This record gives sequence, structure tokens and C-alpha cells, in this order.
Amino acid sequence: MSDLPKTTDLTATLLANLPGSLSGLRAADAQWTRYRTGEIPSPTVVTQASDPLPTVAWDVAICGGTLGILLGAALAQRGWRVILLEKGILQGREQEWNISRAELEPLLELELLTEAELEAAIATEYNPARIQFGDGTPIWVRDVLNVGVSPRALLATLKAKFLAAGGTLVENTAFEHAIVHPNGVALTAGGQSFTARLVLDAMGHFSPIARQARGGKSPDGICLVVGTCATGFPDNTTGDLIVSFTPIQNQCQYFWEAFPAQDGRTTYLFTYVDTHRDRPSLSALFEEYWRWLPSYQHVELDALTLKRALFGFFPCYQSSPLRYPWGRLLAIGDSSGSQSPLSFGGFGAMLRHLTRLTHGIDDALREACLSAQALGLLQPYQPNLSVTWLFQRAMRVGVEQHLPPDQINQMLSTIFADMAALGEPTLKPFLQDVVQFPALAKTLLRTSVYHPALVAKILPQVGVPAVLRWLPHYIALAGYRGAYTVAQHLKPWLRSQSGVTGYRYHRWMEALQYGTGSDYGE
Ligand SMILES: Cc1cc2nc3c(=O)[nH]c(=O)nc-3n(C[C@H](O)[C@H](O)[C@H](O)COP(=O)(O)OP(=O)(O)OC[C@H]3O[C@@H](n4cnc5c(N)ncnc54)[C@H](O)[C@@H]3O)c2cc1C
Repeated sequence: MSDLPKTTDLTATLLANLPGSLSGLRAADAQWTRYRTGEIPSPTVVTQASDPLPTVAWDVAICGGTLGILLGAALAQRGWRVILLEKGILQGREQEWNISRAELEPLLELELLTEAELEAAIATEYNPARIQFGDGTPIWVRDVLNVGVSPRALLATLKAKFLAAGGTLVENTAFEHAIVHPNGVALTAGGQSFTARLVLDAMGHFSPIARQARGGKSPDGICLVVGTCATGFPDNTTGDLIVSFTPIQNQCQYFWEAFPAQDGRTTYLFTYVDTHRDRPSLSALFEEYWRWLPSYQHVELDALTLKRALFGFFPCYQSSPLRYPWGRLLAIGDSSGSQSPLSFGGFGAMLRHLTRLTHGIDDALREACLSAQALGLLQPYQPNLSVTWLFQRAMRVGVEQHLPPDQINQMLSTIFADMAALGEPTLKPFLQDVVQFPALAKTLLRTSVYHPALVAKILPQVGVPAVLRWLPHYIALAGYRGAYTVAQHLKPWLRSQSGVTGYRYHRWMEALQYGTGSDYGE
């Protein structure tokens, strides 16, 4: 990586006045370094015991409050005894989560929020947003990632709902370890003991439970992201969903995102990489951000007033969603890996699955379906998630790989133009992290027929083994789609099933529905 900036002076200067930003960046970089050097911690925090607990105080203990509060409030409102253990203070970050109005519907359907409360949590709304690669023609779309939800406002309202429904919140109490007994889990957090029938792990990507379950395995892909929210941009009325305007450099293809935000304009630089030790640090990527931001947004850096720095890295595993090998433990949110490896939209992914998870956990508690196998049905294999791996692979460059500098831009420009030509039903779900078989098959067919030379270039780029690993997921997507169509006719009969059999049938139906993206728009 000889041509990457060696110093992080500009980052240090520009972030100096943003409290906590530089130390947070250094901590994130230290963590990222451990991933790049194969020193991923894999603690033993879960063990099993064969004797039953004398008493079990709670139905559900949730560790981690950011997305955990969504399920916490939904389950408390259904009458379950819920305790939420949060390492810090349960409050959302200031920076908005981008999403669309349609994706927020579950919050109303589950009666977690009223219309007025939802409106109060929406901080910004804009249209349209752009997609553009290299000097390709821009594609403009509406109602995708065009709503900025304030995590601070949303979580404050959900916290109040949770407490009003009888939930118990214990802040400044970090999960330490868990012992799984036949009738419940004994938890230690913040030096205190808690017992619950079911534990939900909502501790994010770096959850110690998820790390133990992954066994220190290196992620299959990483998304690095850096950015800011700032004022002083000449134009702040439209957004960018994904834009790239530079050729491959430093063995990375840089992508950009931009959103009008409550405190200014949010701009992100992100790139897909593996865990090779020569990959850039987040600080080095920040230097690239400052270098390219002026040409991206047509603004001089000194015209900007920075409100906050934004950064992170997202480890993604092909074997996702994650199913725990122990009973009575279920991963939700980022720890479960159920979000797309292409986006870092974990809030969006949680909302997409919120109704399914609420009903599923409710059923599991009622029918005592809390074994590893029964809970695994709540995080089933989803072929439409697995097929997206090849796309992430196609958007990154190996450290030793030699690709024409514009290859990724040309490929994406062509494929997105093909998707746009096939119409909104093809393009829009994809942009919202939902892959459906008809849309994918039509896009692949169109690209193969109209651009065979491009396909011939992509194959050696991603490698035949990767394509062969991908094919079973593509075939499974087609199979699931067929099975879901047939299963639709059995819905009245499936609905009439109850008890443990009903629990299983409903979960299989959901696996087909969500695994094919058929939940989209339903
Ligand atoms: C720069 C950036 C921009 C993003 N933009 C978007 C967006 O526009 N739209 C979108 O949908 N998503 C977005 N995301 C992703 C989104 O923020 C995450 O998916 C979401 O925060 C995941 O929530 P989580 O609760 O699963 O994990 P986390 O956010 O990691 O939260 C984990 C929670 O668990 C707590 N915790 C950790 N360890 C312990 C412990 N030992 N004991 C108890 N509690 C613990 C933490 O304090 C925290 O509250 C973005 C992420 C980043 C970094």
C-alpha cells in the first residue's frame, strides 16, 4: 500500500475539535488491526450446566439496548417479563439512520409507535437520490434511504414504552458471562446475577457471545466506512445512494454516500476489503476522504464546519445469519449478521425482521421452543442474503490482484443500467437490500445477452471457485421461490396449526417468505 498516505495529520487537525472523535477513531483502528493481524478475540463467555436453576426471574433478558430496545418494547407489551442490560446508557446516537417510510411501517403495525411519535422521530426527508459509477449516466430514484430517523428520539420513545409496559432497564451493566441450564440461563453482568428463560444477544458486531460462536474465525468480507456530518455544502437537497468517481486505487474501489441531515450534510466514503494486513486503517481512509471530498461535493474543506465524525468497520461472514449452538440464546441485530453484506443498514434489517421476530419469539416462549434447533428456526438460512456475497466479492479488489482501473465502475454502471431498464420492481428492492429471484434472473440474463464481454471479465475477477460456491445459493433462491408459491396455497391450513408443530410450520413459512424477499411490499 505504498501510495496510501502515511500520516494522519489532516485527520488529527480536522477532528481535534470534535470531542471523543480522535480517541474513538484510534480505538476502532486498534480493533480493525486485530482483525487484520488474525488476533480476533474469541472469549469463552457461554458454558452449559446440566442442573436446573431453582428459580427463573425473567422470561427474556436482552443484552445490549441500541436495537435490543425494539424487541424489548414489543415483548414487554405482549406481557412478557423483560429485563434489558445495557453496558452504557440507553440512548441513540445523534447521527440519523437512513431508511424509507415504507420500512418504518412495522413500528406502527406492532403498535410500538403512534403516527405522531413516528413523525417526531423522523428528522429529515428528501428526494431524489442518485446512483452513478465513473462517467456513466446517473440513475435517480425516489423513496430509498430518503428518510433520516433520529436514533436519539426513537430510542427515547421506545425506552418510555418499554418501561410503561413493565420492562426493567439496567444501565451501566455489561454482560460478562452466561451459564445455560436446562430451564433457564444464569447471567452475570456488572458483577450482578440475573436469570431468564431466554437471552437475546443484541450486543452488535463485536458481541462476545457472537465471537465465541464464530470461534475467532476471520470475516469473509469487511466494509470500511469513514465520513462526517458537516455544514457549508453548496447543495444539500438531494442524496447519493452509491456513487464512485475514481478508478481503483490502493487496491480499493472507493464508494460514496451522501444524505441531507438535520445538522448539515452526511457524506461517507466506504470500501469493501478482506482482512489482509496491508489493507488501510480507518485513519488512512480518512485521509483519502479529505483528499477526494472537495471533488466529490464541489466544496473546499475550509468552507465546511464539521459537526461530527463518523466511522466504523463491519465484519461480514458468509455463514449468516448466525445460529447459536446453545439453547436459550438468540442473536438479534448486528450480532446475528442478518443484514446485507453490501450495506451497513443494520437498523433497516432489524425493522424488516421485527414483526417476524416479535411473533416468533412470542411463540417460542409460549410453546417453550427454546432449544438451539428451535431458536435456529428464527434465524434461518436465507438464500437471498447468501447470493449477495458474490456482489460484494465483485466490488472489491484483492491485494495482489491486477484489474483495469475502471473495471468495477464499468461493471456496476452496466449492471445498474440494466436493472434500471428492467424497471422499478427490479431496481428498488435491490437498493433496499432485498434480492428476489425474478429480478436477479432477469438482470443476469439481460447482462449476459447484451454485455457478454463484461461477463467474461467478471468471471476471472471474482474467480471460478467463488462462482461455484455462489451457484447453490442461486439455485436455492429459485427453489425457495417455487416452494413459497406452493406454500401460499397451504396458508389457511398452516395458520390452523398450533403448539410446537405450529411453531415449526410458521417458521418454515417465514424462512421461505423472507429467504426469497417475498416479504417486500407484502
Ligand atoms: C457510520 C455508520 C452509519 C450507519 N448508517 C446506517 C443507516 O443509515 N441505516 C441503517 O439502517 N443502519 C446504519 N448503520 C448501522 C446501524 O448503526 C447498526 O446496524 C445498528 O446500530 C446495530 O445495532 P445493534 O444494537 O445491533 O448493535 P450496536 O449498535 O453495536 O449496539 C450494541 C449495543 O450493545 C451494547 N453493548 C455492547 N456490549 C455490551 C455488553 N457487554 N453488555 C451489555 N451491553 C453491551 C452497546 O452499548 C450498544 O448499546 C450505520 C452504522 C455506522 C457505523
